[in-house]
Amino acid sequence: MDNAKAVAVEAVAASERKMVDSLKDMVKIPAISPLSGGKGESARADMLESLISGFGIKVRRYDYVDDSKAKRSNLIATYGGAKSTLWVISHIDTVAPGDLALWDHDPFDPVEKDGKIYGRGTTDDGQSAIGSIYALKALIDAKAQPRYNFGVCLAADEEVGSEYGIKRLLKENIFGKDDLILVPDFGTSDGMSIEIAEKGVLWLRITAVGKQVHASTPDLGVNAYRAMIRLLYEIDRVLHGKYNAKNPLFSSDYSTFEMIKHEANVESTYLVPGQEFHIWTAGYCPNTDRR
Ligand SMILES: [Zn+2]
Repeated sequence: MDNAKAVAVEAVAASERKMVDSLKDMVKIPAISPLSGGKGESARADMLESLISGFGIKVRRYDYVDDSKAKRSNLIATYGGAKSTLWVISHIDTVAPGDLALWDHDPFDPVEKDGKIYGRGTTDDGQSAIGSIYALKALIDAKAQPRYNFGVCLAADEEVGSEYGIKRLLKENIFGKDDLILVPDFGTSDGMSIEIAEKGVLWLRITAVGKQVHASTPDLGVNAYRAMIRLLYEIDRVLHGKYNAKNPLFSSDYSTFEMIKHEANVESTYLVPGQEFHIWTAGYCPNTDRR
């Protein structure tokens, strides 16, 4: 191991406390897509931008405005004088916390317990973002001259389709064709697993239409809720039965089909619902026979 590499590796190990604190600072700032009721990643990007700028290098910021007028912020920082770059691409948005009553702690006030940090987005994808930022710092501090530049890409909007994140960044001429790219978006507690493929995602919003009537006279209407339940059961049965091929490239190694979100129907308990909405999500293994 050459000296700069040894210094850099040691510096990463010595930064453990700072990395934990930075990760906690990051998690404290919610970064949820407006499509899931949040305000986007801009405030979190501010914090990360000032962290990286503190290392004495320039941070390039790519802000895109989404349909809800929220600023969706992406950050790029690179180090080195080589021709090609080794990138670590992480995402800085998180999924919404869901029902807060089901959390032991405030998801946005991370706590350390038994060598772990509990908070929304610490693993997905905070560990990767903070890990890559401190790897960058270690190379800068060691004045390393790596064979590849080291690039940190902190992307927005990964959880809901990457429209204002990596899809936009790919059009900005940032990545070269000889660059190497790592996308750590997965973690195991011993750090020994590398995920080499990820499924795409398909969301389906299903509508069942019936006829709304007073609950005392259901025979005069058509209960859309009942129709939806029967349909969901059938979709679940057919999809799992038909598309059941395994593909060991993926974790999990099969196509997933999950009923996710039941949207509110009638406000009154006196009504048989005439409309019913449900959202379904599917992660499809590409080797599955689509017929
Ligand atoms: Zn992720």
